[in-house]
Amino acid sequence: MNVYDSQRMADVAGREGYEETTEVEDADLVILNTCHIRERASEKIFSELGKLRRLKAARARRGLATTLVVAGCVAQAEGEEIRRRQPAVDLVVGPQNYHRLPQLLRDRPQGAGAIETEFPVENKFDHLPPTPARTIRARGATAFVTVQEGCDKFCAFCVVPYTRGGEASRPLGAILDEIARLTGAGVGEITLIGQNVNAYRGRDAAGRESDLAALLAAAAEIPGVSRLRYATSHPNDMSDALIAAHRDNPKLAPYLHLPIQAGSDRILAAMNRKHRARDYLDIVARVRRARPDIALSSDFIVGFPGETDADFRDTLAVVREVGFASAYAFTYSPRPGTPAADRDGQVDDAVKTERLAELFALLDKQRLAFNRSLVGRRLDVLFDKPGRRVGQIVGRSPYMQSVYAEGDADGIGAMARVEIVGAAAISLTGRIVAPASCAEVQIA
Ligand code: SAH
Ligand code: SF4
Repeated sequence: MNVYDSQRMADVAGREGYEETTEVEDADLVILNTCHIRERASEKIFSELGKLRRLKAARARRGLATTLVVAGCVAQAEGEEIRRRQPAVDLVVGPQNYHRLPQLLRDRPQGAGAIETEFPVENKFDHLPPTPARTIRARGATAFVTVQEGCDKFCAFCVVPYTRGGEASRPLGAILDEIARLTGAGVGEITLIGQNVNAYRGRDAAGRESDLAALLAAAAEIPGVSRLRYATSHPNDMSDALIAAHRDNPKLAPYLHLPIQAGSDRILAAMNRKHRARDYLDIVARVRRARPDIALSSDFIVGFPGETDADFRDTLAVVREVGFASAYAFTYSPRPGTPAADRDGQVDDAVKTERLAELFALLDKQRLAFNRSLVGRRLDVLFDKPGRRVGQIVGRSPYMQSVYAEGDADGIGAMARVEIVGAAAISLTGRIVAPASCAEVQIA
């Protein structure tokens, strides 16, 4: 979501006359978009800000002004702290206030050291400028579209409900218009995103509620959409209709990122996840019945307060039972203001690290096995950039791996049928056998 948000902020700045640069030394405006989900991500910002302060001073000596903005969830949660620890910051702006950037940038003298972290009554999406077609083209063949933000679930470890606020869905029509703009400028693959994307409940023009399955069905009809994905989902919002969409929507990629977090029911209850391991396994079985070639991915937290070795073994057991194509795993990071942060039974860092290594070893093995199982199969790959070598291009498989193939740069931006000839830990190699037509997409 931060990738998407950064792009939308760049669009806003573009309207104000700024152009993007790859050299921070050249930037009159620097916006740091930040993540608060784990402590490591959050702490990085202060070291980055130290560097930017020196850069701002160096530019000032050359007579150049620099506006330094901190955006994102660290801005939301630690606005005062940022201002205190780094006075060189001109503006702190939370995720729900990006549409106010033009005014905040124009009012810079007043804005010096300002903090904008209220949850405004107006919806930022109604005020963000549309992305110009040439910018869309420059960003490549795949794009994110935020359809839902915020979360009402309050898992005991998570800052999202506090930093992004409660669940709010964008109207159906606004999302479909945004997708049409993207595909009109050459984007083929769209990932619908939200902190809890499968809780999507947007309204259509007649005011009726639409769920994610209906949104995906409508998006599939838009000319130029060749592949659809969605992330991230909560198990409790995997409705029958959404599972059926994996069977019925030909554009929907055979890939599902469905976080479980832990395999022990005791820990899941302590996390306030409101599902058991068995519920998750049932969903996986139903999704696999709907779409037998689906690949699964998940998120795991190890070392949540109170997690015993036996609890951790339950997580490994779930991983063995499901067989994941990929996954993200983290050690538990206590976040200020969340219920679990002050609980008894905090797990030693050394134990957390050991458990994480054991979990990674198992997940890595599964990922490699999955990648190897694709050798010899023909997959539709959306090529989106040049490869490391001349004459090579890289794209994404339906299952999210990077696929390297010999091919002309003209093939970038297009889908092609590729026979997989090699598999490594995180990528595949293949041979282009034919361009894929939209109708063939997903027929693996
Ligand atoms: N809405 C999604 C996840 C959003 S946060 C869901 O419900 O699953 C993305 C991931 O960050 C989470 O799935 C979780 O695995 C991880 N995460 C969140 N808070 C964390 C914390 N305090 N410590 C470690 N990992 C955390
Ligand atoms: Fe955080 Fe996801 Fe739980 Fe919401 S459902 S509180 S975003 S982990």
